[in-house]
Amino acid sequence: MTSSSPPPGPPARRSAASPAGAPLSSLYQELILDHYRRPRNRGGLEQPSVRVTLHNPVCGDEIDLQLAIAADRVGSIRFAGHGCSISQASASMMTQQAGGRTLPEIRELIDLFTELMHGSAPAAADRRLGDLRALQGVARFPVRIKCALLPWDALAEALRTHEAGSPDGGKIAVLDPEGLPEGEDRDLPL
Ligand code: ZN
Repeated sequence: MTSSSPPPGPPARRSAASPAGAPLSSLYQELILDHYRRPRNRGGLEQPSVRVTLHNPVCGDEIDLQLAIAADRVGSIRFAGHGCSISQASASMMTQQAGGRTLPEIRELIDLFTELMHGSAPAAADRRLGDLRALQGVARFPVRIKCALLPWDALAEALRTHEAGSPDGGKIAVLDPEGLPEGEDRDLPL
């Protein structure tokens, strides 16, 4: 008797509803689009402590991340670049949560968001992620996970660069494992 077996694919879960009755997923969608259209902390810093440029060739996303780090704390964080709504919203939300945090707190944030992208339910409920929780649905789309993680890969690389950085600070490292052509002018076409 298999007549009552569930349909193939992931179990059909009811979307949690907001107090107003709108499905949570559509609120999340709106939040992602809001960050995409009105990105927070977009731009550059006059004197970044560290700068990382990364490219996601699968989708064509680019990020240019700049941080001012002093006394083991990220004072300012800005990003530029272009790409799909997921990558840009992830960058915007990330800068919102990372600004002002200590480096250990930022490492925790990176781990937490990585867990979120692996479908972790505890991460999806963790308030430290703020608006980033709106990206939890991305975990179901493996190709898009790379988009969402691009700014975070840049952030992790920035911390590694900072740790290995010059004693007098002010070092600018532009890392570009793949993508942008080698050249003297690295301004992104914005
Ligand atoms: Zn993308």
